[in-house]
Amino acid sequence: MKAEMNTAMKTANYSSEAARWAALAQRDAQADGAFWYSVSSTGVYCRPSCGARAALRKHVAFHDTREAAEAAGFRPCQRCKPDQPPLAERHAQVVERACRLIDASVDEPDLDSLAAACGMSRFHFHRIFKAHTGITPKAYAAAQRAQRLTTALGQAGSVTDAIYAAGFNSSGRFYAGAPARLGMTPKAWRAGGSGEAIRFAIGACTLGAILVASTARGICAILMGDDPEQLARDLQDRFPAAELQGADRGYEDTVAKVIGLIEAPGVGLDLPLDVRGTAFQQRVWEALRQIPSGATVSYAELAARLGIVAGARAIAGACAANPVAVAIPCHRVVRQDGALSGYRWGIERKRALLDREKP
Ligand SMILES: [Zn+2]
Repeated sequence: MKAEMNTAMKTANYSSEAARWAALAQRDAQADGAFWYSVSSTGVYCRPSCGARAALRKHVAFHDTREAAEAAGFRPCQRCKPDQPPLAERHAQVVERACRLIDASVDEPDLDSLAAACGMSRFHFHRIFKAHTGITPKAYAAAQRAQRLTTALGQAGSVTDAIYAAGFNSSGRFYAGAPARLGMTPKAWRAGGSGEAIRFAIGACTLGAILVASTARGICAILMGDDPEQLARDLQDRFPAAELQGADRGYEDTVAKVIGLIEAPGVGLDLPLDVRGTAFQQRVWEALRQIPSGATVSYAELAARLGIVAGARAIAGACAANPVAVAIPCHRVVRQDGALSGYRWGIERKRALLDREKP
């Protein structure tokens, strides 16, 4: 109904020959679907936005429908394909088809086969997909898998079942990708901090907003950011089944100590931590705690220390999954060439913390 209205309005805008000729001169895509034009010297007909060389006015005739142009003996132009749906619609169909292909495949389909299935070049396909969805095909596939995993974790009998049900081939591959997407390990996700009381408070420090949270055993989260509400949501996502309690006065001491740590990270934190992660993450986090204040190591160096071959990426993943900023000093890990590289809490905060630790 709405489409019909739009077409009727469009046609009204381009009812005169003068308006139609003006639309041609501008290659006005708004006019597509309102009328078609034929060129007697070439024998083809086009949509108004066609990029072909402009024809002389005396060779051009206008048609209200493409059927009328064909009845007058004209062939569809090879360039603007006036006998097919408009470009935007065709692109939308291509993206739709690609999304269904990604949804249906267990493994992440590679770009070449997706592009081929859509009859496009790899480059063109990637650009159109991104223009329509706002994300790359790879990011779409990752989001779909994370979604499937989230569903499967709620249903499957074991974490391993869930990993397979979500289309991850091996748990190794899953662990490499999961912490960044889920914000917590599968076991912790399943448990969701169930039945556990977590006290938390949000405060301000010189690096922005800060959220500190503790279980009965110790500090389970130190989160930093610009937006306090976002920090609270992040905590909720990490412990969806826990009973989150806005902290009482008795908690102020803990918060003050953590803020003190942010202001002077070299001093260290004299409070127990309660951080849960995979065995691999725990190993990395323990190694991070051995890096003295004022020093930095590279991801590759740390991987070598832990005896992990070519493990720089896995190390970076474990750093990103660190739930307690500064207390586990993942800000002391930098790139091989000394560049700061990424930081879960923002590169500017990483720079500020390292500055504060300079001897
Ligand atoms: Zn054309």
